[in-house]
Amino acid sequence: MFDFGSQEIEYLKGVGPAKAQVLKAEAGIRTYWDLLNYFPFRYVEKGNFIKIGQIRDDRNPVAIRGRITGIAEKGFGKSKRFTARLTDETGSIELVWFSGIKWISQKVKTNAFISAFGKPVIFNHQLSLNHPEIETIDPDKPAEGEGLGIQPLYPSTENMKNRGLSAKVMAGITQNLCLQAYKSIPEILPPHIVGRYRLLSREDAYRQIHHPDSLAFAEAARQRLKFEELLFLQLKILKQKLRASKVRGLVFDKVGDNFLYFFNNNLAFELTGAQKRVVKEIRGDTRTGYQMNRLLQGDVGSGKTIVALMCMLLAVDNGFQACLMAPTEILAKQHFASLSKMLAKMNVRIGLLTGSTTKKDRDILLNLLADGQMHLLVGTHAVLEEDVVFRNLGLAVIDEQHRFGVAQRARLWAKSKVPPHVLVMTATPIPRTLGMTLYGDLEVSVIDELPPNRKPVKTLHLTDRDRLKLFAFMRQEIAKGRQVYIVYPLIQESENSDLKDLMDGYESISRAFPIPDYQLSIVHGKMKAEAKEFEMQRFKKGETQIMVATTVIEVGVDVPNASVMVIENSERFGLAQLHQLRGRVGRGAEQSFCILMSSDKLSQDAQERIQTMVATNDGFKIAEADLKLRGPGDLQGTRQSGLLALKLADIVQDENIVRAARYSATEILQEDPDLVKPEHQGLAKEMQKEGKENFWAKIS
Ligand code: ADP
Ligand code: MG
Repeated sequence: MFDFGSQEIEYLKGVGPAKAQVLKAEAGIRTYWDLLNYFPFRYVEKGNFIKIGQIRDDRNPVAIRGRITGIAEKGFGKSKRFTARLTDETGSIELVWFSGIKWISQKVKTNAFISAFGKPVIFNHQLSLNHPEIETIDPDKPAEGEGLGIQPLYPSTENMKNRGLSAKVMAGITQNLCLQAYKSIPEILPPHIVGRYRLLSREDAYRQIHHPDSLAFAEAARQRLKFEELLFLQLKILKQKLRASKVRGLVFDKVGDNFLYFFNNNLAFELTGAQKRVVKEIRGDTRTGYQMNRLLQGDVGSGKTIVALMCMLLAVDNGFQACLMAPTEILAKQHFASLSKMLAKMNVRIGLLTGSTTKKDRDILLNLLADGQMHLLVGTHAVLEEDVVFRNLGLAVIDEQHRFGVAQRARLWAKSKVPPHVLVMTATPIPRTLGMTLYGDLEVSVIDELPPNRKPVKTLHLTDRDRLKLFAFMRQEIAKGRQVYIVYPLIQESENSDLKDLMDGYESISRAFPIPDYQLSIVHGKMKAEAKEFEMQRFKKGETQIMVATTVIEVGVDVPNASVMVIENSERFGLAQLHQLRGRVGRGAEQSFCILMSSDKLSQDAQERIQTMVATNDGFKIAEADLKLRGPGDLQGTRQSGLLALKLADIVQDENIVRAARYSATEILQEDPDLVKPEHQGLAKEMQKEGKENFWAKIS
């Protein structure tokens, strides 16, 4: 069959071998289809020129026209640049180029009439346009008469511009392509979906995105193509989920003695409704005969540990072993201690395995695991080592999953002939639309309720000048019997200077809170595990009142008597981290405080982060704000998920389209899981073409 899209770009009118070479090398465009999918990033409404005197520094791109009244080459080395002054009857502005100077200096001569399009910026204390798109114009023609209509602007490189692929030429060849494409871009979406969302037809969308009749059409075209892009992403995710749901799994069909004994005798409080619901969901999953892959989301302090324990007891009652893995040694030890306590008077044997377990203890432990006498194992990555063999591992719980890599999860699977059920727990709330995508192939449970009687943490922002006030406040709280965390940032690349900050801070705090009235602990990443543990224990037992630490305490540490969290240089932390740190207090009955220290001068982003923290305790709101500030590119896991490979859609901005796509994909697969119906043939073919379905299998 003749396939329009796969034709080589070289044969398109206006291209030829030389330009084809450049297109391929610079933009990866080889075929007609590649070029059709090379979308403009913006459109210029020609004729929409403004006067130079009207330009404001408001980040909106402007189109202006005028005469060049002076040119110059300035600066040396890296700051070498070519400048041209563009003047009209209302004023003048500098146009600046930092590269391609040779080419631009031939084009822009004094007294030339040109039009320029670009974003005004402040450069060297004055308004200028950096690297504007320019065109030579005829000054005798009135502006109104000139090229009315909309010109697409394509992403281009200096090389493309230098080798004859200017904005205008690009627009010309896509125009030719769109003319030829007529009737060659069949619809692939089922008609009822096109109708439901009033989408442009596929063919119209491709034509309008390149050469729109109006800006409204351009927008409609983008909407349609974004929808398509997100629909395919969701189809892939959901197909993977469907496949995963068919993996044979162990059956936990009994609720037995251990579960019931724990529930009736050892539970010190009433479970929250959300905790009960989640335990039920997990019970439901684990008796179906299929393997469970579930993500448990619950804000810090929402009580995930109890849920994990109850599920592990379920495994034990059904004759299986279970393990719980934590990202740090401190956390693993803490889990071990609190689970051991919760299992009081029960015949459930629990062990701890970390990197610092002695060889002797390790050997004993491994024997007990191998013959099934050890029921539960708590540990760090050490659990994944090859010689750690279970008799019959039924459930693996992974706490704070963002620190566990994909490969490590795969190693877990390998520990059992039939893969164990997997419960991944995270306190990092994931905004819904991102969750649909990032964890779209996992079942998700949410604990959206905190245990009763928690007082929300009060958050304050202080600057370095308020330090005396801070110290006074700390003394006051310590006098009431409370304990205080002071946390310093520690970022890998600058570890040494960060360590110095920490030590300097520690010294000044020691001076302000001298022995014997006050006892201080310090914990940081460069300390030996035993030393860290020793200090943690002292703090936990209340022997020290102040814990000075780096972010090693970020995740999971539980000292209910600590009621003040001071975060130094808080402007250097991300929102998710700040929220995690704040979650270390507010665990007891007392009013707790989180104090964000920063310098006076803050960047816009830092200011927004701090304001968000002061304004809300709601993890989901914080996650949304985080996503808006950083974009999905920086979030954990997005790199693997292919979210960055999206060409048009943006998971954050296009939230509604994500939802619509998810909804439609679910509907399509419910009705026709193998895409065999005639109205789904277009989709099926496209899915095949992409052939990347298994991509998802690797990461989930
Ligand atoms: P996270 O979800 O952050 O891991 P934890 O499991 O550490 O939270 O629980 C935080 C604290 O809340 C613990 O001290 C725990 O004993 C307590 N807790 C958990 N569930 C409840 C409940 N239903 N009622 C009262 N306290 C609870
Ligand atoms: Mg926890």
